[in-house]
Amino acid sequence: MRHSTTPLVTTIKERCRVCYTCVRECPAKAIRIATGQAEVIPERCIGCGNCVRVCSQHAKQVQSAAARVRELLAGGAPVAAMVAPSFPAEFTEWSDGQLVGMLRALGFKLVNEVAFGADLVAERYRRLLEETKGQRFIATTCPALIGYVEKYYPQLVGALAPIASPMVATARVLHRLHGGGLKTVFIGPCIAKKGEAASERIAGEVDAVLTFVELREMLRETGIGPASVEGSDFDPPRAMAGGLLPVARGLLQAAGVAEDLQAGQVVAAEGRENFVIALEEFETGDLDAKLLEVLCCKGCITGAGMSGHTAHFSRRSRVSQHVRRRALAVDRDRWRADMERFADLDLGRQFAANDQRIAIPVATQLADIMARMGKFTPEDELNCGACGYDTCRGHAVAIYKGFAESEMCLPHTIEQLKRAVRELAVSNEQLASAQEALMQSEKLASMGQLAAGIAHEVNNPLGVVLMYAHLLLDECDRKSQLYNDLQMIAEQSDRCKKIVSGLLHFARQNKVLLQPTDLADLVARSLKAVPAPEGVTVGVEIETGDPAAEVDRDQIIQVLTNLLSNAYAAMPHGGAVAIRICGDAERIRLVVADTGVGIPKENQAKIFEPFFTTKQIGMGTGLGLAVTYGIVKMHRGEIGVASNADPAAGPTGATFTVTLPRKGRQE
Ligand code: ADP
Repeated sequence: MRHSTTPLVTTIKERCRVCYTCVRECPAKAIRIATGQAEVIPERCIGCGNCVRVCSQHAKQVQSAAARVRELLAGGAPVAAMVAPSFPAEFTEWSDGQLVGMLRALGFKLVNEVAFGADLVAERYRRLLEETKGQRFIATTCPALIGYVEKYYPQLVGALAPIASPMVATARVLHRLHGGGLKTVFIGPCIAKKGEAASERIAGEVDAVLTFVELREMLRETGIGPASVEGSDFDPPRAMAGGLLPVARGLLQAAGVAEDLQAGQVVAAEGRENFVIALEEFETGDLDAKLLEVLCCKGCITGAGMSGHTAHFSRRSRVSQHVRRRALAVDRDRWRADMERFADLDLGRQFAANDQRIAIPVATQLADIMARMGKFTPEDELNCGACGYDTCRGHAVAIYKGFAESEMCLPHTIEQLKRAVRELAVSNEQLASAQEALMQSEKLASMGQLAAGIAHEVNNPLGVVLMYAHLLLDECDRKSQLYNDLQMIAEQSDRCKKIVSGLLHFARQNKVLLQPTDLADLVARSLKAVPAPEGVTVGVEIETGDPAAEVDRDQIIQVLTNLLSNAYAAMPHGGAVAIRICGDAERIRLVVADTGVGIPKENQAKIFEPFFTTKQIGMGTGLGLAVTYGIVKMHRGEIGVASNADPAAGPTGATFTVTLPRKGRQE
């Protein structure tokens, strides 16, 4: 017997693309999305097969009864095939006779139409409606509907019409006719029938349920086709209008319920949305019907066990054409006699509540979950349905029960993705500029190595030249031409010495002597060393209460004098220099801004390289900023420049910012 946790439908994981269509189409909300997979929850599933039908990837697999049927046919007991009334809509390529013949060839001893069971059931409904006063019923011909009421409308279980389904009725007829040893196999379009047959309440009455799709597979496997079998007729008892059952209002027509009664007190609803609404209204009393005939599918002819190769209305007309044909051919007296014969057959059926409703979480829990989906105000609740739930709150409740994930909220996930893209773009930009800075500093570092090598080699012979020049100068007559020449040698050697020492500074080959220092004082001393030329004003602003840091005083004075000299040189017609000292607890910042000609963009990356100069020959060595850079780096600091050299783009000028750690560290 089927245990309630054995799933009627399972997911083929490799095929599931997690599109949430099955979640959306499942009226019982019996699909859990966990770790990116859709999975059917057996205890919530009503077997309507909507998920199977709507899955474009064919990722939903129906529990197959083929193996069980093969076992039954191979066993000693006779087996009856009970063919559902929707068969004319499925097997359009074969005649009735061919289908029956093929079933017999498969090994079925008896082949019966469930439509006769439907005739009996319809008759019981007619009696129920006539004999009960003031009571309202829900028809119980659709097993998915029974499951839905038992699980999600347990308060309506009492209203379920206590009449067995046509499948069970047919099984009871056959067992009475052929004895309890007969095995019965229902062949039809419905997945929920598998659940019904396995239900404890009708234990042992129907041994297996095969879908039309599974029957086709069995025929294919065994190689049985219409050509290889002899045509044959269904076994008695033969049916009449019961064949209409698979279409909406079919039960009422089969029962011959009078039109006025149908119009006033009987309501038929079909399809995933309508059946839920109809039940809701039936419960509230808005729908004042004596009998509610509900089919979860759009009639059994659209059941998930159909192979679905024919159009919906063509299926409908094929079913009614079949019934019409049979009504003409059938022996009415014989049919009436059969109906009489089984008038006393017990067609009772009981139902029991199996409450699977989800308790609504308390408001704070719900609010927490909604916040995770970025929903803080009612306007945030778009109720777009993309997650598969009708409302954001429905989705939140499902998350609370562990059936869904917050990532299923598409607008929120798109928003998060957009944010991630924006953040990525920003860090990409930062990465690019860091890469550029790294390349620049690598270039400067390798230049420094080269410079240091040359400077070291040149420094000693230069010292010797200088020493001998001075020795000769001391011995020479001051008025002689030789004295002048020697003085030139000494002067130029001295200039070379300065260049070499500049290179050593740039290459950070010099030592720093760190001392606690008042930088405001250093600024004042630098301004004394390089006073502003005419037409240039200098302003100093100290924006920190404590302008102190551990630095090498002489070297920082050199930095400041270099920056000031460059600023003055950039303002041949006058201007202003603004010096600012600012910073935080960790760092101190020296800012030197001028209103000079500025540095063109293409030069900004080159100005810290040794020997880069735009000044005339003899005016600049191109070492000032290289030395500055070396000193700042020796202090474990940073130097940067912002400049505009294009008058059309705004006021021109250059701003150099030197950032130094307040607490120095000796190299
Ligand atoms: P030098 O002053 O000997 O040219 P630097 O290394 O000090 O060497 O400067 C390199 C180049 O940077 C200068 O020639 C000049 O083109 C540019 N530069 C430096 N500071 C400024 C400034 N404040 N305004 C405009 N250009 C500047």
